[in-house]
Amino acid sequence: MSKAILYDATMCVGCKLCEKACAERNHLPYDDNIALESKQSEHKFTVVLAKDDKFMRRLCMNCQDPACASACPVGALKKTALGPVTYDGDRCIGCRYCMIACPFSVPKYEWSKALPLVRKCDMCADRVARGEQTACAEACPTGATKFGDRDALIAEAKERMAKNPGQYLNHIYGVNELGGTSVLLLSSVPFDQFGYKSDLPSEAMPMLTYRALSHVPDVVTLGAVLLGGVWWITNRREEVEAAEAAEAAEAAEKKAKPGKEDKKRGSR
Ligand code: SF4
Ligand code: SF4
Ligand code: SF4
Repeated sequence: MSKAILYDATMCVGCKLCEKACAERNHLPYDDNIALESKQSEHKFTVVLAKDDKFMRRLCMNCQDPACASACPVGALKKTALGPVTYDGDRCIGCRYCMIACPFSVPKYEWSKALPLVRKCDMCADRVARGEQTACAEACPTGATKFGDRDALIAEAKERMAKNPGQYLNHIYGVNELGGTSVLLLSSVPFDQFGYKSDLPSEAMPMLTYRALSHVPDVVTLGAVLLGGVWWITNRREEVEAAEAAEAAEAAEKKAKPGKEDKKRGSR
């Protein structure tokens, strides 16, 4: 049975113990400065965002039909039957198509390393395979992050919404978005206020591409579809390139002037 994470923002107290547990599980550094970072990065796979007294987690959605895996030419990214989308660094050739393809801008690249890898949350695939819950769910003191069977968590989310209709938006994010995800979100605040796209189709991106290309009636439509695809890829590539340039510049600057925290990290 497919597993999932249900994050209920109304139960979250912003303690960030999920961030800390994620860092420990992934052998990544974590300290007060990293706790303040509000962007997912190659050394921070999940972030707890705050707006006034409201919170929201960001992490890889571990999509049911992941665009990152479809785009990977060497099969380094894979959707597993239990739910996690795993990454095999030994297969990766560093093309970074996954970064262009991901609709949630999740995969990050280790720009500052001599042999860089793509890094992202893999839904604690090793723990899940052993029958354990994810490290973030285990660490959460309030139950805001809960691990379980995807169908059961969707039923539980619906029950919570039915019992407390004023407390939630009438939307479980991740049930339908892009064919569904293994991370499900409940909130009282619109998801787009925390950077989640609100206009995603309910079909997976690989399926959208397949359908577009398998129903084209003539060469004109095919051309339009291809041009649309090229526009989308170019647009995403430009976005990713801009982000990559900023990250690379940041990494170079840190290398040139190592701060206190970087020295600490380097000593680990
Ligand atoms: S959120 Fe992005 S990186 Fe994560 S599984 Fe989906 S497409 Fe892949
Ligand atoms: S599922 Fe695992 S890898 Fe993903 S955010 Fe939680 S602890 Fe980190
Ligand atoms: S551990 Fe739980 S309560 Fe604390 S920030 Fe993470 S999700 Fe929220």
